[in-house]
Amino acid sequence: MTALAEKMRWDIAQLVENTDPDWITSKLEEMVEAANGLARRYRGKIKDLDAKGLLALLTARDDFSLRYEGVTEYSSLRYSADSTDAVSKRLNEALKKAGTRAGQALAFMEIELGDLLKAKPGLVTDTNLQEYKHFLERIVRRIPHVMTEELEKITMSKDQNGVSAWSQLQGDWLGTRTFKIMIDGVEKTMPYGEIISLYQSTNRELRKESNRVVYDGLGRDDQLWASAIRSICGDHLQMCEWRKYPAPMTQSIIDNDVEQAAIDALMRTMEGSVEAYRRYLRLKAKFMGLEKLGNWDIVAPLPGVPEKKYTWEESRKEVVSAYRSFDPEWAGWVDEMYGRRHIDAEVRNGKRSGAFCASWLAGKSAWVLQSFNGQMGDVYTQAHELGHAVHAYLGSRHQKPSNYEIGSCIAETASVFGELLLTDRLLAEAKTREEKRAILATVLDEFGMAAYQVSARVFFEQGMYDAIKEGKFLDGETVSSLWTAGRDKIYGDAIEWLPEMKWEWTMKPHYYIPNYRFYNYPYVYAQLFVFALYRLYKEQGLAFVPKLRTLLAAGSSRSPTELAKDVGFDVTSEDFWRKGMQQFEDFVGQLEATL
Ligand SMILES: [Zn+2]
Repeated sequence: MTALAEKMRWDIAQLVENTDPDWITSKLEEMVEAANGLARRYRGKIKDLDAKGLLALLTARDDFSLRYEGVTEYSSLRYSADSTDAVSKRLNEALKKAGTRAGQALAFMEIELGDLLKAKPGLVTDTNLQEYKHFLERIVRRIPHVMTEELEKITMSKDQNGVSAWSQLQGDWLGTRTFKIMIDGVEKTMPYGEIISLYQSTNRELRKESNRVVYDGLGRDDQLWASAIRSICGDHLQMCEWRKYPAPMTQSIIDNDVEQAAIDALMRTMEGSVEAYRRYLRLKAKFMGLEKLGNWDIVAPLPGVPEKKYTWEESRKEVVSAYRSFDPEWAGWVDEMYGRRHIDAEVRNGKRSGAFCASWLAGKSAWVLQSFNGQMGDVYTQAHELGHAVHAYLGSRHQKPSNYEIGSCIAETASVFGELLLTDRLLAEAKTREEKRAILATVLDEFGMAAYQVSARVFFEQGMYDAIKEGKFLDGETVSSLWTAGRDKIYGDAIEWLPEMKWEWTMKPHYYIPNYRFYNYPYVYAQLFVFALYRLYKEQGLAFVPKLRTLLAAGSSRSPTELAKDVGFDVTSEDFWRKGMQQFEDFVGQLEATL
């Protein structure tokens, strides 16, 4: 192994005392035993606990997860890094089995904790349990929506052949579709998973034709897709009634630990700010030499952008310096991630695609996986994942595992903030207008997809429930008209859509995933939240730094609304969210200036 290859490979042996696979599997067995031990000690007895007893239980639960974090993380990270290795496969299998058994052994806890808090609600505010206050509040919030044990059991088996089966059918159906397309005069037949890679082609006609072919094909099965989505929506409405959720979105609001008022303010801001996005899309069309962008051009790269490559050391320097401009301690942690070899960046066969960051709470650090090819996008990915690492460094220094279960609305705060720090640095270093343009378009496209496009999906989902309420029957054409209505609210006349795009909803797995309604607005929340924070940083300068530190260090010990309030922001007001929009508009303005 060359010195560089070694630097780009993580050293996960740090997670365990011993890397002998037999030792690891015996530790995993020990974990199952420890879970059984907790069950023996507490099953059926939680209802009798007083505050001190409950504190002992919650502490034991946290100690348990810290004690076995090393072996579980070692087994899963090793498999992510090389799934072809025989030992990795063996450890991954052992981990899955042990994880399921330990999970089953401890499943009683959540139910019994709910019963306990229902009987003794005063425990939530007991001073002995101060550290776990919000953890307990979240359980309390779910109590009114839990049914009797018998009904819960029946619901689970109903779902198996109900919502779960519809989701399985949608996935299987999509996975087995093939599409015919002409490439360089030769007709090719491609499965869905392959043809969608053509959406990113540098050949504009091919991008357009692949979109047309796919959605034309999917639309031919509209009866099947509509049956699935109609049944899933119908099931959800029925369950809302049984579980006493006042609105179709409520379950998701509770799961995400947010309030309806904040989401309403967020979505109103998005709806009121569509012109900024349309302005960007028109600008992008100009840069691409087009009258108007087609839907197949929305995230296409700008033409004529100089291809800039970064070495591993250059990337490290850019990312660490970006963080240093904000907080030297953060930069130190990020640099430590490289120095201690907590990043696996080498491109290799059998490695999981994409990138992720895994927190290592017991080690007060984290692990990052990516495949580094030296492109600007890879440097961004690195800055992003290392932002998650910073969050873990802060969280693990201040919170127990129960208070570091970060929900989707907050999870991307440090990571996207890091991307924006990198953006400012790269913009300052850019030597040509074309370079500047490429950086800004990358940031604006990402925001466009995560905030604006996903908002269209929120409008669509809400539209389906409203339509059902009005007594409409959701056949394929009706669902399509709701889809295009949501879409057009965002894009207006800034985009030319292929008529076949009305079938786009057919392939979105989220709408079919069981018990996962309104997956969408947390993405919008996360994106606009960070843009708003970044704007405030620009306005307040260094005075803002401790605020963001406090917010991240709190982990999940406070709700997203409280976290924001602690540092002086009100997420239920449109004024706060408008700050995020100002930052977006600022970037659009900078892009305009490169004309
Ligand atoms: Zn992320």
